[in-house]
Amino acid sequence: MSARPENAVALVTGASKGIGSAIAKALAADGWAVAVNYRSDEAGANAVVEAIEAEGGTAKSIHADVTNGDAKALLKQVEEALGGPVLALVNNAGVARDNIALQLTDEDWDVVIGTNLSPAFRLTRDSLRSMIKARYGRVINIASVVGPRANAGQSNYAAAKAGLIGMTKTIAAEVARRGVTVNAVAPGFIATDMTAELATDEIVKAIPARRQGTPEEVAAAVRFLASDDAGYVTGTTLYVDGGMSA
Ligand code: NAP
Repeated sequence: MSARPENAVALVTGASKGIGSAIAKALAADGWAVAVNYRSDEAGANAVVEAIEAEGGTAKSIHADVTNGDAKALLKQVEEALGGPVLALVNNAGVARDNIALQLTDEDWDVVIGTNLSPAFRLTRDSLRSMIKARYGRVINIASVVGPRANAGQSNYAAAKAGLIGMTKTIAAEVARRGVTVNAVAPGFIATDMTAELATDEIVKAIPARRQGTPEEVAAAVRFLASDDAGYVTGTTLYVDGGMSA
């Protein structure tokens, strides 16, 4: 079992709020220097960095729209800002554009696939070289309970999240002998901006745990998968869903 190299950096995409911000804080608490990526919410990202620094951790906010296609430039920006290679990559940035398939536009299909799936592939591909060289790497893709199972009105989102899980398994098999693990975390119904308008009593009653999850509960699973302890866990999907998929 290998240990995390001293200068290792973690990149969390979409870390200005919600689940991503909790993941950034949890990884920083575990000693990772963390790149807090954001697209539009600079104040949110700066607040995450300040909270990490207040606890004695290291973090920098990094502006980039992951849909711009230039994963190499983002990784370079992170490495220059934090002084080491990205050896933990958390593909968390995501959006939802819901509608039933009959009415779903090409644009809403493309935006969801182009934000939730394609950047995760490009960032994974372009960070693997450093990970393989270090013989240490952790890729964690934030998927969803939606994808492995249906949710009417989310065919674009389900396709992206199921795609992430398929990609996770395949790349995990490709790099397993190199000390690099690739896993997915599938949250259920978590209290963030993304779900703020959806949280009805009816939905919550359908969750076996009878409550929404917190971003911190998802972050705890990511923290484990990023740790040295999880070196033999690869290609799997860890559900954090209060029993929704049971
Ligand atoms: P959220 O509160 O809406 O936060 C989304 C984050 O993604 C923000 O930091 C946003 O950045 C960032 N983002 C969006 N588009 C981006 C882009 N093009 N480039 C860079 N960053 C971008 O959502 P959340 O609930 O925390 O969701 C985080 C992840 O968990 C998503 O992948 C989501 O699909 C997944 N998930 C959430 C739930 C849930 O119940 N909440 C359940 C299952 C899975 P800015 O704000 O700076 O623009």
